[in-house]
Amino acid sequence: MNGESRCPGCGLVMPRSAKTNGSYYHCSGECWSLFGEVLAAEFGNLLLFRKVHQLTVDAYAVQHAGGPHPDKSVCVHLVGLCLVHEHGLASPEVAPKLQGLATRVKDWPHFEPPQGQGHLTVFDVAAAADHDEHAARVRAWAAEVWADWAEHHAAVRGLAAAALGGDPPRR
Ligand SMILES: [Zn+2]
Repeated sequence: MNGESRCPGCGLVMPRSAKTNGSYYHCSGECWSLFGEVLAAEFGNLLLFRKVHQLTVDAYAVQHAGGPHPDKSVCVHLVGLCLVHEHGLASPEVAPKLQGLATRVKDWPHFEPPQGQGHLTVFDVAAAADHDEHAARVRAWAAEVWADWAEHHAAVRGLAAAALGGDPPRR
């Protein structure tokens, strides 16, 4: 590996830095650090924040499932992606639905992450030239991550229905 780190979630290869991983996500410290830069850009611009912030958080979390990442978090963020891609919710409409779901479901399924998730990563978003490109890349990245989890879509749809007001799925 000499001098390089490979993110166990998204596969991103980065020069190794002294930064430590401050997250329970299944990610390298270098990848987590880039995610922090992307979040800082979104917190710094209200329009960008409203357009894509929730999608950014959901795409990053789902792409970094596995390892120490708790099932509850993976499930909640998968539902976030489902609500946007299959129910057409706008990014700011998602968080209240996820909060409601998180309080109502007590027993979360474990979804094995798909092999070889996508090509886009948080690196592509961090490298965007401007806010429009940032938003476009988040949308493309999130769509790719959602598509990669196709084998679990049916189960996630059950949770998404509960997030929209239905009964939580029985297990
Ligand atoms: Zn990563």
